[in-house]
Amino acid sequence: MRQLIAGNWKMNKLLGEAAALARAVRQGAEGIGAELLVCPPFLALPAVAEALRGSSVAVGGQDCHMAPSGAHTGDVSAPMLKDAGAEWVILGHSERRQDHGEIDEHVREKVLAAVAAGLTPIVCVGETEDQRMAGRETETVGWQLEGSLPKPFAGVIAYEPVWAIGTGKTPTEAEVAAMHAFIREELLRQFGEAGRGIRILYGGSVKPANAASLLGLPEVGGALVGGASLVAADFLAIARAGQGA
Ligand code: PEP
Repeated sequence: MRQLIAGNWKMNKLLGEAAALARAVRQGAEGIGAELLVCPPFLALPAVAEALRGSSVAVGGQDCHMAPSGAHTGDVSAPMLKDAGAEWVILGHSERRQDHGEIDEHVREKVLAAVAAGLTPIVCVGETEDQRMAGRETETVGWQLEGSLPKPFAGVIAYEPVWAIGTGKTPTEAEVAAMHAFIREELLRQFGEAGRGIRILYGGSVKPANAASLLGLPEVGGALVGGASLVAADFLAIARAGQGA
């Protein structure tokens, strides 16, 4: 299966900047074997979708509400994302879990809402530094997978150790490989054979310099990229390190 390289632009880029970044990614995407996705802020989604129309680069949101519409001030629903041109949505990112008190149950409901709207969810899981120091990283991720994924689950998992996000620190290759192997086992346990086809991305300080080694590890089905996705050349360099087959 092709690797998926997804850019999470977070709360960055004004409208003109977002469209320019999307155009730069589009221009460099030709010939890249990996699947490409960019997730701009909500307001920039239509402009980015327009800039990428007809290209091989897909567009996604960074969150959605669990309800399709209603009295939820400040929120955005999955059908709204779809209407604006999104095909994907990132859910349960650690910044949502930390800043907005999202718990696994919310993430699970959002996954159901996303799938109902025709979006493919990318569900983020990962341990904090304290949890890893205490040797509780697999336990933590196991509970997150158990609580966040509905059955059946038609989406992608992103393993993002919280302590590696935006810090320049990454787990060792052995640590990434061990966690991805654990997640695969959990997916097989939860979903049977269907769990084998679920892609598992790695996220947390992926840069052009470390992309090839991280993306070459077993069970790494792509990358979720934050900071480096804000510079087209860096995002494309990471994508070129991804595998197209
Ligand atoms: C992220 O927030 O999803 C992420 C992986 O960020 P960064 O690449 O900046 O660590």
